[in-house]
Amino acid sequence: MSNQVLLFAPVTDLKGVGTKTAADLASLGIYSIYDLLFYFPFRYDELQTLPLDQIMDGQKVMLKGIVATEPFVSRFGYKKSRLSFKLRIDHDVIMVNFFNQPWLKNQLEIGKEVAVYGKYNVARQTLSGFKFVAAKDNDSGMAPIYPVNKHVKQKKLVSLINLAIDDFLSEVVDIVPEKIRQKFKLMSDQEIIVKMHHPNNGIDAKLAKRSATFREFFIFQMQLALLTSRENENNQGEAKHYDLKEIAKLTKSLPFELSADQKEAVNEIYADMHSDQQMRRLLQGDVGSGKTVVAVYAIFAAITAGYQAALMVPTEILATQHFNKIDELLRPLGVRTVLLTGNTKTLERREIYKEITDGTINVVIGTHALIQKNVIFKKLGLVIIDEQHRFGVGQRQALINKGECPDILAMTATPIPRTLALTVYGEMKVSEIRHLPSGRKPIISAWKTSSQMDDVYARMKQQLAAGFQIYAVTPLISESETLDLKNAEELFEKLSHDFPDQKVVLLHGQMPGAQKDEIMAAFAAGEINILVTTSVIEVGVDVPNANMMIIYNADRFGLSQLHQLRGRIGRGQTQSYCMFIADPKTDSGKARMRIIAETTDGFKLAEEDLKMRGEGDLFGKAQSGLPEFRVGNVVNDYNTLAAAQKVAQKLVKKSNPDHQALKEILDYEQLKQNRI
Ligand code: ADP
Ligand code: MG
Repeated sequence: MSNQVLLFAPVTDLKGVGTKTAADLASLGIYSIYDLLFYFPFRYDELQTLPLDQIMDGQKVMLKGIVATEPFVSRFGYKKSRLSFKLRIDHDVIMVNFFNQPWLKNQLEIGKEVAVYGKYNVARQTLSGFKFVAAKDNDSGMAPIYPVNKHVKQKKLVSLINLAIDDFLSEVVDIVPEKIRQKFKLMSDQEIIVKMHHPNNGIDAKLAKRSATFREFFIFQMQLALLTSRENENNQGEAKHYDLKEIAKLTKSLPFELSADQKEAVNEIYADMHSDQQMRRLLQGDVGSGKTVVAVYAIFAAITAGYQAALMVPTEILATQHFNKIDELLRPLGVRTVLLTGNTKTLERREIYKEITDGTINVVIGTHALIQKNVIFKKLGLVIIDEQHRFGVGQRQALINKGECPDILAMTATPIPRTLALTVYGEMKVSEIRHLPSGRKPIISAWKTSSQMDDVYARMKQQLAAGFQIYAVTPLISESETLDLKNAEELFEKLSHDFPDQKVVLLHGQMPGAQKDEIMAAFAAGEINILVTTSVIEVGVDVPNANMMIIYNADRFGLSQLHQLRGRIGRGQTQSYCMFIADPKTDSGKARMRIIAETTDGFKLAEEDLKMRGEGDLFGKAQSGLPEFRVGNVVNDYNTLAAAQKVAQKLVKKSNPDHQALKEILDYEQLKQNRI
């Protein structure tokens, strides 16, 4: 009998795993044995094995054989070394050298069977080893490559995963119902695990990935289907009897008039709130189109009707910005708004919890700190989720559960095609802000190569002389935070040197939140002339006097993300400039730079981005408007996603999952998403 619950035990239940390793694994999002088993490689190195006489000079191959001589390390120069031994392959003996990996010696002994991957020199009968694999670990020659970071090395992870497989594979229970698996010809969960980590060949790996993708989408769609059904069961939400007289005061206090699109969105939202059906609405609008004000109207209406409201956003900077803006608008109307993030001090936090519960606080704005269990509302009537694709279903659910069938307003700056939206978010009505507020000048965009930096500097000098501020942005490459930082630091040095009489400041993602806030506040106050950043400023930041942006290595961003970044400027009445600096090598890279320089239509750019993603684009994940999955890809595997949705909806309608193993997984996934 298998017992799935054992799998949810912390990784420290594995032999030889202590708290240090557990902490390292946590940095990859791996907490339990289950997480380890389902932490899949993102690709495989195909290590080709060939008979010796078929190998060409300089070819990369994997050779399997038996260690024939005592491995010997010779050292030369500073930190340089060569590890050599002879390897017997059937009746031949070749030489193997590993440079600068002396520690490998400990894993070798005469008579041991090993596999070595490297580059073969035919004349010398010598293999320069890149990689050493104990033969048992890699019979197939498909070496799994996992996403790792500086805390956890590839090799260590492989051995931990193998350990987990050895001891716990038999506890894994299938969660996709048998019938469905047959219908779609899917592997069992145990088979998925074995084949994903140790495929025998490329076809194996492909089939396993197909099954793993379905499984992943199925879990997601079950969550979504349950979310929707739970809301529908009692979607007898309450009608919010808001006070139009009070709301007129808000309108009067605004420094501008709402655009026609904004008015229409507010009306649609008000109709939903006024009905006794629960509101489930998505507000789409390009960056800078003015979604925040619309949200403020929704919030204020809920408050005049006697309810509290919560606004959840993905980053701390954005939470702070929203808070400042919304508090400024609503405070004069007697509304109490607070900011709650991971950085809120314990004492203050306790006070906030108390006042949320007793109802003194009307509006809470924050990051996913909002879903902590201590946050208990007196009467939560409206939940707003900004950039909702950045949150997991479980996170959204957790916030929604804090009210009794509260109205839900999701906001996104990245429109996605309707069918895709249905598949990814479930049933929602859509309001759209199509036009930017009037009086805005379109941003002038240009693509410059690095040999045209003189043009860029000339424009910068002109803008700085006129008292305007500038963003200088370098790409965020999610695989390597350290590299991001290095890029940004180098750029900071360079601009500080090139603009000695300007105040140049660096802002990056690894700074403590309080420091980021401080820098943003100084920038907003005009005390900083050039702000050098990674893409931490990507969403929501609003400083109208900053009307120029330079984006370095622009070809490393996705189009949607470039558009989001650019949306930080063009917010005032003055002319804004955006310069994309890139030296793309490929035609598609050049085409992308031309598109971004020529079009300001977010929808068009999103579609172009989707096309690129179809071709396996790696960049700009966070800004695509789509949720990210570990194995599957929403665009490439759309059909699987849609099939999984159908299956899940049927299952939920029929029975609610009375399937214990599935229930446990769903609970576990929810728990995991809500980990802070
Ligand atoms: P979004 O969240 O959609 O990116 P914001 O809500 O931050 O956009 O609005 C961008 C800027 O436009 C803000 O400075 C806001 O005050 C301003 N704004 C919003 N609506 C209008 C309007 N109708 N007329 C003029 N300015 C507006
Ligand atoms: Mg916004």
